[in-house]
Amino acid sequence: MDHSIRASTSAASSTRIVDVLVPVALNQAYSYRVPRGMELKPGDVVCVPLGPRQVVAVVWAENARPAPRLHNRLKDVGEKLDVPPLREELRSLVDWVSNYTLSARGMVLRMTLRMGENLGPERARVGVRLVGEPPPRMTPARRRVIACLSDGLLHGKSDAAREAGVSAGVIDGLVDEGTLATEVMPPPPPPPAPDPAFAQPQFSRQQRSAVDAMRTLAANGSFHTALLDGVTGSGKTEVYFEAIAETIRRGRQSLILMPEIALTGQFLDRFAARFGARPLEWHSELTPRTRARNWAAIASGAAPVVVGARSALFMPYADLGLIVVDEEHDQAYKQDDGAHYHARDMAVVRAHIAGIPVVLASATPSVETEVNARKGRYQRVALPSRFGGQHLPHIEAIDLRREPPPRGRFISPRLADEIRNAVERREQALLFLNRRGYAPLTLCRACGHRFACTICDAWLVDHRFRQRLVCHHCGFSTPRPRACPHCQAEETLVAVGPGVERLQEEAAALFPDSRTMVLSSDLITSVETMRSELNEIAEGRVDIIIGTQLVAKGHHFPRLNLVGVVDADLGLNNGDPRAAERTFQLLNQVIGRAGREQGRGVGYLQTHQPDHPVMKALVACDREAFYGSEIASRERAGYPPFGRLASLIVSAGDRPSAEGFARKLASIAPIDERIQVLGPAEAPLAVIKGRYRFRLLVKSLRNVDLSDYLRQWLAVAPKTRGNLKLEVDVDPQSFL
Ligand code: ADP
Ligand code: ZN
Repeated sequence: MDHSIRASTSAASSTRIVDVLVPVALNQAYSYRVPRGMELKPGDVVCVPLGPRQVVAVVWAENARPAPRLHNRLKDVGEKLDVPPLREELRSLVDWVSNYTLSARGMVLRMTLRMGENLGPERARVGVRLVGEPPPRMTPARRRVIACLSDGLLHGKSDAAREAGVSAGVIDGLVDEGTLATEVMPPPPPPPAPDPAFAQPQFSRQQRSAVDAMRTLAANGSFHTALLDGVTGSGKTEVYFEAIAETIRRGRQSLILMPEIALTGQFLDRFAARFGARPLEWHSELTPRTRARNWAAIASGAAPVVVGARSALFMPYADLGLIVVDEEHDQAYKQDDGAHYHARDMAVVRAHIAGIPVVLASATPSVETEVNARKGRYQRVALPSRFGGQHLPHIEAIDLRREPPPRGRFISPRLADEIRNAVERREQALLFLNRRGYAPLTLCRACGHRFACTICDAWLVDHRFRQRLVCHHCGFSTPRPRACPHCQAEETLVAVGPGVERLQEEAAALFPDSRTMVLSSDLITSVETMRSELNEIAEGRVDIIIGTQLVAKGHHFPRLNLVGVVDADLGLNNGDPRAAERTFQLLNQVIGRAGREQGRGVGYLQTHQPDHPVMKALVACDREAFYGSEIASRERAGYPPFGRLASLIVSAGDRPSAEGFARKLASIAPIDERIQVLGPAEAPLAVIKGRYRFRLLVKSLRNVDLSDYLRQWLAVAPKTRGNLKLEVDVDPQSFL
């Protein structure tokens, strides 16, 4: 069937109308007239007028029978862009995600059009070359430019300005003087393509059967979900590379999703070592030009392999043949601003719609995925031991009730001794504490005043490097005062509790001859600095690493053999139904950094609760015990994946409005015996950025269409007026 909608050249009555989805917070598509001579079909990317603006949007459907009186009031499609149309597969994904998450369809579409503003042919780049004599009037800036261009080669104009540290005007001036000449730069050469046969490793016996499973799944090429379940250091990456190699051979594209793209520096190198070329990256720090180019390469099929953060899932692949979700259990896959969606789950949805295989890789699968594997819905591909005969780390608990650190310190004597031994053996040690800054709380010893954010229900965190007290929820910050603002006493402020910066101070005092480095997201200004710091560690230029969860993810530090978890209980007692699972995953992952290459890795857990099931399972290396008890307790409580959850979060600038609206919502919830509506309750984080927050939790049996229930409910709810806001979070991961 021909889907083209051809504009008629005859009477106005036969003008074609199309429904166009615009990337704004709307569910429905708008109708536009197709101008004469323009051919449009669903998926075409167009420019349309929207109010006073022109926006990039997508033809969603032809509108065969628009109301006749509408015709004359409709606006015309402005222009059809010269880019590949959004394929049916991606349009179905947009519809599906919007329907499931109750996010506006336009907002989901927006994720596929991140390049909207930059579409179109690339502008030719202008270059400059040194051709003539220096100008009569020399300035230091001009001298720097001439020095930079003294090689006589063609340099990009903006590159030359940046290198010489001058404005573009200085360059233009030298062109006018005849010292420099401009030329059009040749287009950059296309990046080399990954070669599936470049450097295939020798696989161990255990890896070989997993590799076979990967190749088979990629060769079949149809929808299939596999859990690549391998302990830390088992070679999961090398193994799923074979699924990618097979997909490249079949001429289709692969997508590798990563929880945190800033952390993939080592990954890119490993990929290049295996395939002889780097994959295409997709993340938020790309420059607009690179984004535009990468978007186009993805859409044209010129990029065979893409590695990206969750947003890469919504790219318009020309022919996606495989999705790999690395560290599938990671909570960074859940997006909680704008559209609420879980990229791992939506990856499985996309694979299903596209009819392609998906590989979920983890050493500690999410409980949801583990249950799917146990029930046989997902194929389990197991790698139960480390590559190269390395042992998994030995784990011990340090009972802080019996072996406490000295007063005001956070490293127990036993852990300090072990670190000293490790450093003497010229091995690295990692102190892990999932808390940024110097101290989570500052108080006045004289009057008891505690420093809290003025617009959030949260304490201010002391950041000594930046010399400020900072709110981790809204970003508010203020210099640390000398006197207490409450009682005016001086020199009475004390830091309570540890953050990584304070731990570094303690480590530096305990081990004055060691080199320490703090790795924490707030101290890192860019992806590039992050990558260079990680390289310094990997090359052994640091003895003691002090880090937040940033260090837990996926790095390979050859000389790291000891991991000390400073406060293993930190994530356990926050009332989150997934607290135990998250703690188990995080600690397993961070201790898994130890002993990957030589020697025996050891992990120490400083805890007040050595008898907690999570600590016992970690110490006994008994994963099955952990999953067994966690799955049983979820089943008893009817929590996911045995039941379903959704949150409604109501917020407003004042407490009574928020609470009143939340109560009203609860009172009109449709009655359904399979569904419980709990609350409203004040949110654990009761105020963020001056907004008061109340939560409703909706809990249902597993087989209920919760999205549909929510839609029916919200259809009869009063409109959110003024500054009231209602957020819907299906499958919530955060309960704050
Ligand atoms: P995981 O992702 O399971 O933690 P990795 O894929 O990072 O494990 O592998 C751990 C280390 O072992 C890496 O340095 C990797 O290069 C190496 N490795 C794994 N399998 C092989 C193999 N078959 N040949 C050579 N090196 C391997
Ligand atoms: Zn705040």
